Amino acid sequence: MNKKPFVTLEQLEEITKTYPTPFYLYDEKGIRENARALKEAFAWNPGYKEYFAVKATPNPFLINILREYGCGCDCSSMTELMLSHELGVTGKDIMFSSNDTPAEEFAYAAKIGAIINLDDYTHIEFLEKTLGYIPETISCRYNPGGIFQISNDIMDNPGDAKYGMTTEQLFDAYRVLQAKGAKHLGLHAFLASNTVTNEYYPMLARVLFELAVRLKKETGADIRFINLSGGIGIPYRPDQEANDIRVIGEGVRKVYEEVLVPAGMGDVAIYTELGRFMMGPYGCLVTKAMHEKHTYKEYIGVDACAVNLMRPAMYGAYHHITVMGKENAPCDHKYDVTGSLCENNDKFAIDRELPKIDIGDLLVIHDTGAHGYAMGYNYNGKLKSAELLLKEDGGVQLIRRAETPKDYFATFDCFDIIKGLV
Ligand SMILES: *Cc1c(COP(=O)(O)O)cnc(C)c1O
Repeated sequence: MNKKPFVTLEQLEEITKTYPTPFYLYDEKGIRENARALKEAFAWNPGYKEYFAVKATPNPFLINILREYGCGCDCSSMTELMLSHELGVTGKDIMFSSNDTPAEEFAYAAKIGAIINLDDYTHIEFLEKTLGYIPETISCRYNPGGIFQISNDIMDNPGDAKYGMTTEQLFDAYRVLQAKGAKHLGLHAFLASNTVTNEYYPMLARVLFELAVRLKKETGADIRFINLSGGIGIPYRPDQEANDIRVIGEGVRKVYEEVLVPAGMGDVAIYTELGRFMMGPYGCLVTKAMHEKHTYKEYIGVDACAVNLMRPAMYGAYHHITVMGKENAPCDHKYDVTGSLCENNDKFAIDRELPKIDIGDLLVIHDTGAHGYAMGYNYNGKLKSAELLLKEDGGVQLIRRAETPKDYFATFDCFDIIKGLV
């Protein structure tokens, strides 16, 4: 299959007159269509809610689009909680699914009324000490251990993952939490990441639904919601077939009716915390070819680097690249597409077959809408790029400006160096 960018060369040439490369570009139309499809796929469950995983794409403009489709926020840290709260997302529309959590983050989450999802058994005591009470509504994260049988590059081995409680701990946690005043319980698990199959959610649902039935029976808990978390993937590679969210929603419904309804649990709400699925395909990194180097290999040096997009360097992740204007040209050149960091893993592609690239060509790096900009850092003193929104009407809106040297030096309050900088 041919992967097509959501933006044309003509549009990019217009955009680059105002905004220099590199930049992130997001597709409002795609984000909206996908959010609507997700909502429809789970409409059979009256309590359904997607808590967008803020860490994937922490941009207020994009989060506000998702809110129009009823999405809340799933936060993993203080600043994500603050961002969500600042946007007017309040109370139970915020899920706090964090791990190794600092006391002040628990305290702030409780203060703004977020649902706290406990990663560990010992966090019960830690939370009680921090708050002086246990919230009435609270959730626990489960880790069944072993291997989750869906092949996957990043995480398919819960037994090796640092997250969640064992089965035994979970049952104890439910008992202890109720003894300490919890009235409404939730259950959460995230067992595989970036699953490009319609099977993952239904399989996970079966594990969690059967567990919930046992938990209710054995601990008497009032289970209000089951949180299937993130993990629905996207086809990064052109030969992969996209998940069909309708099939996934339907698959979960079948298991719900098979397991929960007969157990008298037909009022349990289904929650999700999708990140990648909500934004991944609807963002791209636009960069320009700056240098061409011939040594033992052929290199194209672009003006973006791993600071802008870390996934290839960190996980060896594949991101498809389109050389704009050469969509139909033969891929008869083999390149390493590199950034400028003093780090040999700073490569967006290795031995990639692409059309002949000329200096000045615009390259679209696909599927960077989630865990892209957000994972960026400032190594080599490189600055983070702007984020732009390609609106439904074809217009472009700056939704985050590019960093300037002043931002980079802002933490050196005591240094005069800042004075001369704009
Ligand atoms: C990262 C994360 C998500 C989102 O994961 P995706 O793979 O982007 O869907 C959801 N929940 C938790 C707790 C996470 O850590």
